[in-house]
Amino acid sequence: MTASRRPMIAGNWKMNGLKTDSRKLASGLARRMKKLKKPAFEMVICPPFPLIGLAGEAIKGSGVKLGAQNCHTAVSGAHTGDTSPELLKNMGCKYVIVGHSERRSDHGEKDTDVKAKAEAAITAGMGAIVCIGETLKQRESGRAMSVNRKQLQGSLPEGANAKNTVIAYEPVWAIGTGKVATPEQAQDIHAVIRTELAKLIGDTEAQKMRILYGGSMKPGNASELLALPDVDGGLIGGAALNADDFWAIAEAAT
Ligand code: PEP
Repeated sequence: MTASRRPMIAGNWKMNGLKTDSRKLASGLARRMKKLKKPAFEMVICPPFPLIGLAGEAIKGSGVKLGAQNCHTAVSGAHTGDTSPELLKNMGCKYVIVGHSERRSDHGEKDTDVKAKAEAAITAGMGAIVCIGETLKQRESGRAMSVNRKQLQGSLPEGANAKNTVIAYEPVWAIGTGKVATPEQAQDIHAVIRTELAKLIGDTEAQKMRILYGGSMKPGNASELLALPDVDGGLIGGAALNADDFWAIAEAAT
């Protein structure tokens, strides 16, 4: 972490939670957040779509921000089962996660789709959290750096800057597996991403843009990862479903 970049701790709830436990989780975080005068981190929770309204109510006025896990590229229209960025913004979302590896694998989303979704989220007035990351096979064949460079080039929205875009490096082999990247592995890729960003959007903006690490981040490994010079926060799945664990990760970012 670098003092000039405010760490982001974002929770991806994925397809988890029912009304009561989700309300409890969100309000537990809100309660803790309200006690901080000037939080050193930005906290975002990304519940499943039907829980966005309920979670938004629970965190109202606390400083915890709301995010979504996906969006459509169109403002509105005939897209059954999809959700428009305009509605997400209207519901109080500040961020949208795009290009999560589970969207890429379950729904065949390509870099071009991710880029279009990020652009739609930004146009609607939210920030895009753009996920990239290599598979185990790609890492084992020595292609981790080139894969991440290519995904970044293809997924970065037009007009990306440090205010409207956050990058999340999520090695696919570390997501939900309990296998976490070593600090060396994480820092190496984060540095590659920042160098590539400098080429794409200029060094000044690249130095300001946050790059999150995601993949089995837990209270026990967060401090080590968050202390790395190019790691500016975390995108957290499993550990974001427990208020104590998620809060402990956020505290490790300070
Ligand atoms: C994620 O879903 O983005 C993620 C990083 O999950 P987990 O923390 O469970 O590995």
